[in-house]
Amino acid sequence: MILPRELQILKSHGSQYIRNLADVKLPETFRGRPEISGNMTVADALELENICPAGAISHYPEPALDMGKCLFCKECQFRRPDLVKFTNDYKIAANNRDDLVVKAGDKNPISFRHNLVRDEIRKIFGRALKLRQISAGGDNSCEMELNAAGNVNFDMGRFGIEFQASPRHCDGIVITGPVTLNMAEALKICYEATPSPKIIILAGTDAISGGLFSESAAIDRSFVESHAIDLYVPGNPAHPLTFVNGILNMMR
Ligand code: SF4
Repeated sequence: MILPRELQILKSHGSQYIRNLADVKLPETFRGRPEISGNMTVADALELENICPAGAISHYPEPALDMGKCLFCKECQFRRPDLVKFTNDYKIAANNRDDLVVKAGDKNPISFRHNLVRDEIRKIFGRALKLRQISAGGDNSCEMELNAAGNVNFDMGRFGIEFQASPRHCDGIVITGPVTLNMAEALKICYEATPSPKIIILAGTDAISGGLFSESAAIDRSFVESHAIDLYVPGNPAHPLTFVNGILNMMR
């Protein structure tokens, strides 16, 4: 039986969960969707290309920043605050890889292409989606954030989205990490054990592009490169709000 005093304590805690995950005002310091000034010249882009540790900035064919490669270290903004600014827009998940590339002068939100979502995803998984998370050489940062997506704040379980232990009980996989050689076969086995139809989500920069390890001889990207990807969730690590909103876009 809950006593009046306990009720008072519960009341004083207020609402623990975020009611509307699609409308959260994050601090200005959050590292979300970047904006590149339309005044950025090829020479400016070359300067930033040289200091970017991940090869995320390119000058050709036009100045652009690839969120799929970006470490969100903000080094480019520190160097040229007049040209690069990371906004607090966390809705940056996309289902088309090219949409992760932000071009100079582009201030639009990241678009989600509903026409690319497979029919069976909305038909079968629209109300419940069980996922198996595979840490394929991850550093535990994205993994912790994905864990947080299920906590009392973000509570993705209210939308029927949950992580499961067995791939046989799942509708898809979420890959984190750059896919190390040691995990390449395990990733393949896990995917094959998941019943069809199934989806593939890449969470975090490492999973999307290999990140800092993209040139390493110790990774094997063949699985990622040979399968259709249903959702890209950028971030280093990916934020729970980005992850849940991306999945909701895909499911509904
Ligand atoms: S924030 Fe991204 S684009 Fe800028 S320097 Fe870091 S990795 Fe490169």
